[in-house]
Amino acid sequence: MNSTQDNFPEPEGAGGGDSASVSPSQSTDLPVIPATALPDGRLASSENQPTSELAFQQDESSMSLISEESSPMELAAWGLKRFAEQKKIITTSFGMEGCAMIDMFSKAIEQNDLPKLQVAWIDTGFFFPETLQLRDKLEAKYTNIEFIRWATEVSVEQQKETYGNELWKNNPNLCCNIRKVVPMKKNIGGFDIWITGLRRNQTEARAQTPILAWDWRYQLLKFCPLVSWTRPQVWQYVQRNEVPFNQLHLQNFPSVSCFHCTRAVPGSTPDSDARGGRWEGKDKDECGLHFSI
Ligand code: SF4
Repeated sequence: MNSTQDNFPEPEGAGGGDSASVSPSQSTDLPVIPATALPDGRLASSENQPTSELAFQQDESSMSLISEESSPMELAAWGLKRFAEQKKIITTSFGMEGCAMIDMFSKAIEQNDLPKLQVAWIDTGFFFPETLQLRDKLEAKYTNIEFIRWATEVSVEQQKETYGNELWKNNPNLCCNIRKVVPMKKNIGGFDIWITGLRRNQTEARAQTPILAWDWRYQLLKFCPLVSWTRPQVWQYVQRNEVPFNQLHLQNFPSVSCFHCTRAVPGSTPDSDARGGRWEGKDKDECGLHFSI
């Protein structure tokens, strides 16, 4: 823990984690928390739930079940309908997972005649031109998605004046906190459901990510439809569905973030896994949006 970490309340007995207590490692029988745990923070009891496939407490007979075996596309459609009355937001930095997820949700909206969904991107001020071109392509293609920009109030110049020219190098956690975490914290409060493209095999910290869980840091439900997919599956989906993706993936960038902290990884391909090339030489593989740093 360092001085840059936000003081989010920890739940009693949560062991310092950022999400609610139901995860695959803790109970393989209950891969996701019951959908009755709505954004008021109350978690429904898991007692007496069926074990092989978690039955959600349905308040509409037409609502289908979801489980660990549900595909991301099924989860996207389910989430939009199950949380129709809640305020939902996808956040993305335009990684390949985010692009695939935007396509899935856009299709689910179209197929089910649902209202527009908001997608927020956090503008650090350090995006590659290719990332901004990708944002424009996504915005043009997915007209049932509303793209909104969140950003720090600290300009690049102010950051330089206050912290020196290379904060990203000298204290990347502070830089990520200023440019990503603070804007996230400031804006996410108005939402009930946070939809993200986390995958379990991206990093060690993400390995136990539940499909759906209460997020104590931001006080809302966090919904991760892609958790069980591998990077090759994401890449296959992107290709088959002609989803726009960052052209840097074709130039040996497996993962793309700010230009200060992202490097090409020789020999890598678009389906190369992990977050190679990020924060090279640093003991850091998370920006702090999903986990405390
Ligand atoms: S990824 Fe690098 S440049 Fe971007 S906010 Fe984090 S430390 Fe700063």
